[in-house]
Amino acid sequence: MTFRMTPGQQEIRDQILRICAQFDDDYWLDRDRNGGFPHDLHRAMADGGWLGIAMPEAVGGVDLGITEATIMMQAIAESGAGASGASAIHMNIFGLNPVVKFGTDEQRARMLSPLIAGDEKACFAVTEPATGLDTTKLKTMAVRQGDRYVVHGQKVWI
Ligand SMILES: Cc1cc2nc3c(=O)[nH]c(=O)nc-3n(C[C@H](O)[C@H](O)[C@H](O)COP(=O)(O)OP(=O)(O)OC[C@H]3O[C@@H](n4cnc5c(N)ncnc54)[C@H](O)[C@@H]3O)c2cc1C
Repeated sequence: MTFRMTPGQQEIRDQILRICAQFDDDYWLDRDRNGGFPHDLHRAMADGGWLGIAMPEAVGGVDLGITEATIMMQAIAESGAGASGASAIHMNIFGLNPVVKFGTDEQRARMLSPLIAGDEKACFAVTEPATGLDTTKLKTMAVRQGDRYVVHGQKVWI
C-alpha cells in the first residue's frame, strides 16, 4: 500500500527537517559517545510549537493527528538523529495521548501545557527487570494509603 502525504503533511516534514539540519552527525555522535540527553533538539522542537502537534488547541497544541506526529517523528529519525533523537521527543507526544483522549479538562491543562512548552518532559515506566513485552506479568503496584500512593517494585529503561 502506498502512503501519499497531503501538501500540509509534506510541509510539516520539510519544516522538521529544517530544524533537524541544525543538529549534524557530529552532534549525534557526541550524544552517543557521552550519553547526554539532546536538550537542544527538545528545546528547538518546543520553541517551534511541535510538541503540541497532536494536542488540543485549548492547552496550547495545534490539534493535528497521530499521523502528522508520526510523519514528524520519522523526519527526526531520518535527519540523522535516529532513535536517540526520536526517543527524546516521542514520549512527550504519544505517551500522553491517553490524557488527550480521556483526561479531564483539569488534567489536560495540568499535564499537557508544560510538556508543549518544553518545561517538563514525559517518562514512561512500564518495563521491569523480569517483565519485558509481556505486560500482563507486571509486578509493581501503587497502593493508595490515605491521600497518597505508595509504590513498590522495580522499573528499568525509563
Ligand atoms: C532504547 C530503549 C528505550 C526504552 N525505553 C523505555 C521506556 O522509556 N519505558 C519503558 O517502560 N520501557 C522502555 N523500553 C523497553 C521496551 O519498550 C520493551 O518493553 C523491552 O525492551 C522489551 O522487553 P525485553 O527487552 O525484556 O524483551 P522480552 O519481553 O524478554 O522479549 C525478548 C524477545 O522475546 C520475544 N518474545 C517475548 N514474548 C514473546 C512471546 N510471547 N512469544 C514469542 N516471542 C516473544 C521478543 O519479541 C523478543 O525478541 C526501552 C527499550 C529500549 C531498547
